[in-house]
Amino acid sequence: MAVLDRFLRYVSYDTQSDENSETSPSTEKQLELLKLLEKELKELGITVKVTDHGYVFGTLPSNVGSNVKIAFIAHTDTSPAASGENVKPQIIRYTGGEVKLSDEVVFLEKSFPEINAYVGQDIVFTDGTTLLGADDKAGVAEIMSMLEYFVNNPHIPRPEIKVAFTYDEEVGRGTEHFNVSEFGADFGYTVDGGVIGEISYENFNAASGVLTVKGLSVHPGEAYGKMINAVDAFDYFHSLLPENERPVSTKDHEGFYMIDEVKGDLENLTAKYIIRDHDKEKFQAKKAYFEKCAEETNKKFGVGVASVKVKDSYYNMKEILSEYMHLVKTAENAFKKEGVKPLILPIRGGTDGAHLSFEGLPCPNLSTGGHNFHGRFEYIPVPSLEKMVKVLVDIASSYALWK
Ligand SMILES: [Zn+2]
Repeated sequence: MAVLDRFLRYVSYDTQSDENSETSPSTEKQLELLKLLEKELKELGITVKVTDHGYVFGTLPSNVGSNVKIAFIAHTDTSPAASGENVKPQIIRYTGGEVKLSDEVVFLEKSFPEINAYVGQDIVFTDGTTLLGADDKAGVAEIMSMLEYFVNNPHIPRPEIKVAFTYDEEVGRGTEHFNVSEFGADFGYTVDGGVIGEISYENFNAASGVLTVKGLSVHPGEAYGKMINAVDAFDYFHSLLPENERPVSTKDHEGFYMIDEVKGDLENLTAKYIIRDHDKEKFQAKKAYFEKCAEETNKKFGVGVASVKVKDSYYNMKEILSEYMHLVKTAENAFKKEGVKPLILPIRGGTDGAHLSFEGLPCPNLSTGGHNFHGRFEYIPVPSLEKMVKVLVDIASSYALWK
């Protein structure tokens, strides 16, 4: 089956995850696609294991007695940020300029100039009402087609290939039940990135910071020297955080503080922040400064007015992957072989590979070839889908005789 047909089949399943759900999976419907994948893997002759929590693991043994067990991992859910129901993909030969997705929705090339790289190519777009789901069903389709290729070409040497399909990645719970030793791979890749050629082995170190402010309400007419206004104290605290260290003014390897919620009144206020930095030392320094801002606020407003709780969320996988740079090198060579320029980019966020790497399964992230994830203007060029299959085949087979 062509990778495009696989992809179109997978996006017809609504697999949106839900950040407000506490069940696992967060939505029952995610399991439908996983059941299909289980069936398709079995039809290919792959050994399948469905874990207690419903992840689908597949194993294709080595045909050359290789000791290497290499992993490819993708998630089946789509983002809650946009509807994934009734996805109606359309394939349009891109000839430049804007693209009419429907009578109401136009894809503006001015807003998304990256599309200029694909003039003359067939591109899968949405109908302008839903997301497409290339994140990460393109990754799923590419991995499945890679397996199919190896099954149909038994003369191509391969190591043991392990694949995993998970759920709830988009709500930050993608590896919640992932037992790395049960899976049993040595190292591998998540296939969940964007533009073709992307290889990422760095992500943010991440923490959350919650500020709590306790004020003191006094009748405004008699407040002189007595009132402590929690909103003013919050305002002071926030003003101490550097204005040029916000997401809007940082890029590449620059970290930031971001406020994401504030709730409160004169007496009680809480503000939620996230703190991010690729560099471990700068990350520690940012957290320490965040705590110092509370001390400074208390110097001005009174002891015990402001307090903060800082909690680490995840760490930069570079710490682990710097020992496994052969994964990056191998991917670079595979892209070059397909005429694609490798782009080594730091992830400005987290990735399932970060958790997996720290748990003993080193996993950089590779492109899927898609663009504009989580929205109505998501698209993926067909040649990118096809090239990614070749890249995965090439990566896997280069480990066949690896020691
Ligand atoms: Zn994804």
